[in-house]
Amino acid sequence: MKILVPVKRVVDYNVKIRVDKDTNSVDLNNIKMSMNPFDEIAVEEAIRIKEKGQCDEIVVVSLGPEQSKETIRNALAMGADRGILIKTEHSPEPLIVAKALAKLVQQDNYDLIILGKQSIDDDCNQTGQMLSALLNCSVGTYASKIDFDNDSIIITREIDGGLQTLKLSKPSVVTADLRLNVPRYASLPNIMKAKQKTIDELDPQDLGIDMNPKLVIKKVEEPPKRIGGGKVESIEELIDKLKNEAGVI
Ligand code: AMP
Repeated sequence: MKILVPVKRVVDYNVKIRVDKDTNSVDLNNIKMSMNPFDEIAVEEAIRIKEKGQCDEIVVVSLGPEQSKETIRNALAMGADRGILIKTEHSPEPLIVAKALAKLVQQDNYDLIILGKQSIDDDCNQTGQMLSALLNCSVGTYASKIDFDNDSIIITREIDGGLQTLKLSKPSVVTADLRLNVPRYASLPNIMKAKQKTIDELDPQDLGIDMNPKLVIKKVEEPPKRIGGGKVESIEELIDKLKNEAGVI
C-alpha cells in the first residue's frame, strides 16, 4: 500500500498573528513557520501504519515556496520515505491544492491519502473533501481511528451523537482529527538520515494545473480587542447590565 500525506507550511501555532495593513495580509516577516499540526498527526498515522507492516511507502507532498522543503524534511525526519515539493510562490487555495493532489494520485496510484482535517492558517477544512470529489473516491473526515480489514479501511470519526464507523474501499481520502494520535518528535539520528532522503521538485505546469486563484481576499483585519470581564453584586445588577450595557435582553 502507498500512502500520500500532504503537509502544509503554516505560521507556528504559538505565534501571535500580526496584520500587515499595507499588503492587506498576515505579516510573515521573521515569523516562525511549522508543519500544520493536523498534518503532523497525519504523518504520524502513516508511519504507525507502516510500522505495523501495512504500508510499503509514505510520500509527503507540499505546495508552496522553496521553504516548504523544511516542512517536508521534518516529515522525512519523523519517518516518511520521500518528499515532493510542488513549487509555488505562495501557498495556494484549497481547490488548487486538491487539483494538484488529484493529479499526483492519478499518476502514482496511491491507495490512501491522509490529510489534516484543516489548516490552522486559513481554517478552510476543504481540501480533503474536494480531493475525494475530484477523484470520485471514498472519504472519511475527522478520523480519530484508522484500521484495516482485508482490503477495506475502517475509520472511526467523532460526530455529535457519539462515534461513527465507516468502511471505505481503496483508494480513499481520510482527514486526521486531533485525537487520532500524538505525533512523535524526530530523533537526532533520524533528522540526520532525513537529509539523505529524496525531495523531488515539480512545477505546477508539469501537472497541468491552472494556478490562478478563484478566491479574492477583500480585507484582513485583527479581531476586536476583548474587553475584560467584571463581577456583579446582585442579580438585579446583572439584569440591568444585560439590558442596558450588553443590550442582549
Ligand atoms: P484546508 O482545506 O486548507 O483547511 O487544508 C486541509 C489539509 O489539506 C491540510 O491539513 C493539508 O493536509 C492539506 N493542504 C492544504 N494546503 C496544502 C498545501 N499548500 N500543501 C500541502 N498540503 C496542503
